[in-house]
Amino acid sequence: MIEIENVRKSFGELEVLKGINLTVDKGEVLTVIGGSGSGKSTLLTCINGLEPIDAGRIVIDGTDVHAKSTNLNKLRQKVGIVFQQWNAFPHLTVLENVMLAPRKVLGLSKAEAEAIAVRQLTHVGLAEKLSVYPNRMSGGQQQRMAIARALAMSPEYMLFDEVTSALDPMLVGEVLDTLRMLASEGMTMICVTHEMKFAREVSDRVAFFHQGVMAEIAPPEQLFDAPQHAETKKFLAATH
Ligand code: ATP
Ligand code: MG
Repeated sequence: MIEIENVRKSFGELEVLKGINLTVDKGEVLTVIGGSGSGKSTLLTCINGLEPIDAGRIVIDGTDVHAKSTNLNKLRQKVGIVFQQWNAFPHLTVLENVMLAPRKVLGLSKAEAEAIAVRQLTHVGLAEKLSVYPNRMSGGQQQRMAIARALAMSPEYMLFDEVTSALDPMLVGEVLDTLRMLASEGMTMICVTHEMKFAREVSDRVAFFHQGVMAEIAPPEQLFDAPQHAETKKFLAATH
């Protein structure tokens, strides 16, 4: 369970998260929508401890992410994150790229890391691409490789930050299908996305962020069909 309690975060004078309260249960799929600069990415980077917070706390399965005593490397094995773009190592094959973290961070043997990497790459539909170099793959394949790389650490939670935004529209579907598959397998996920149709289909709940505030959170049919907050209505009208 991810518990976010009254989290505040500023960059200099700019308060980007203005007291966020949110609990994400095990197995839940939460999507986060909202305008540019509303604090969506900042929230994800605070959840896995990439950014410090100024007030409040974030607790994952009883561990306070920002406590001094917390082992962030261990936490990040548990909470995987995939961004819009991931720069794979160009001189390593797809398989070698995915093996890297299990080897270096988990200290697994080459054979163990390879078995895991093959399994996860197969899982995201890249079994044919193991010995290919990343720049020989499409954007959608590269994003699926990035997802396989995160999954290779056996995370219990996955955070996705607009993983389809940099893609050619033709390639968006295959990456969304991979996310749908993970959701159907019961992965606990927070997905920041601009793909409203996807959000409607896959989410247990949708959170709408506006200027650092979580203005509204509701099941998708409620949030999309009967939004309560004026800003949610405005945002949804503009995205149609
Ligand atoms: P987008 O939809 O464009 O990705 P977002 O909702 O993800 O937007 P954030 O990236 O969380 O927004 O940024 C929120 C605000 O914080 C923005 O005004 C941004 O300029 C600012 N910001 C984000 N990261 C930093 C940083 N490292 N240093 C200074 N300001 C930052
Ligand atoms: Mg963002």
